[in-house]
Amino acid sequence: MATAERDYYEILGVDRGAPEADIKRAFRKLARELHPDVSQAPDAEERFREAAEAYEVLSDPERRATYDRYGHEGLRGGGFAPADFDLGNLSDIFGAFFGESLFGQAAHPGGPSRGGDVAASAEITLAEAFTGVTVSVTARVAQACETCDGNGAAPGTSPRICDVCAGAGRVQQVSQSVFGQFVRSGTCPRCEGIGSIVETPCETCDGIGRTLHDRALDIDIPAGIDDGQRIRVRNEGHAGALGGPNGDLFVQVRVTPIPGIERDGADLHTAVELTMTRAALGTSLTVPGPDGEIEVEVPAGTQPGHIIVLRGQGMPSLEGRRRGAFNAHVRVHIPRRLDDAQRTLVEQLGESLGEEPYRDDEDDGGFFGRIKNAFR
Ligand SMILES: [Zn+2]
Ligand SMILES: [Zn+2]
Repeated sequence: MATAERDYYEILGVDRGAPEADIKRAFRKLARELHPDVSQAPDAEERFREAAEAYEVLSDPERRATYDRYGHEGLRGGGFAPADFDLGNLSDIFGAFFGESLFGQAAHPGGPSRGGDVAASAEITLAEAFTGVTVSVTARVAQACETCDGNGAAPGTSPRICDVCAGAGRVQQVSQSVFGQFVRSGTCPRCEGIGSIVETPCETCDGIGRTLHDRALDIDIPAGIDDGQRIRVRNEGHAGALGGPNGDLFVQVRVTPIPGIERDGADLHTAVELTMTRAALGTSLTVPGPDGEIEVEVPAGTQPGHIIVLRGQGMPSLEGRRRGAFNAHVRVHIPRRLDDAQRTLVEQLGESLGEEPYRDDEDDGGFFGRIKNAFR
């Protein structure tokens, strides 16, 4: 992140001791200036990013305290990764203030607009992905301010219709040219497209009409979900403006793997370790599966590299139609050291076996030939 090392207070232009309301006001002012619809400056988007990052840290008391004490390093050390500041997240913040996504369509002047979408994440285990699970997810969402009912005006007052645009949010500019009269329509400079003006801002929301809350929601994560997939929860994003619909909540699911198990869609893979004697004699053993132990039958004469496929014992598919396979990849170990007595036994075994027992009934050409060569 190019912005990671600039001082957050400097970016917002506030004192280190500034109260939260000042920080909010400073950010709001900058955000309005740097709105891509308003600012022609080539670096507006980058500066908005900076301001949003600074606001996201300084508006959260815990993060702010960490930043004050340990700076940028401290935030990163506390798991506040720069990845938090992706476009999705910035548009969340922007949506909280303007009811619009940052780089989405322009605001519909004066009319209701849809609330911004919110991103959250949930971390579950592979076992939970196997069975499906309900998790509690906390997301910071903008809600209509309860003090002013979302219109931004202090109690006892109400916003008045903008006198410049008469509530339309847009104004027409007429210009004369040699080709005749041109009429251009643009966002009203007085009310910034809202159509009304708040003269006495509500103290709770600073006239914005929305406040941010941490909202906890139970999210049903279906069996078979894969790492990185997103669940869309309709209507649980930021509140819309002027009666517009809420945005959506997108929960990105991280699935923590079980050590030793690799997942490939619905199929699972694991390695099973066998001594040469157990591979020759056959055995049954248990290995960690996605949801407890799985019993694997190893037939006598199992070869190194053989894959024992247990159909239907992998992950469920999201559509619930079929389960994947659990694949046990056989690794056979040969003794690395033999004492004299063991050596004699193995020699006797070798003589007794000869070559025939190594023959693969389904492959009597190449493999047997290779064994023969090795004996010379
Ligand atoms: Zn309010
Ligand atoms: Zn206006």
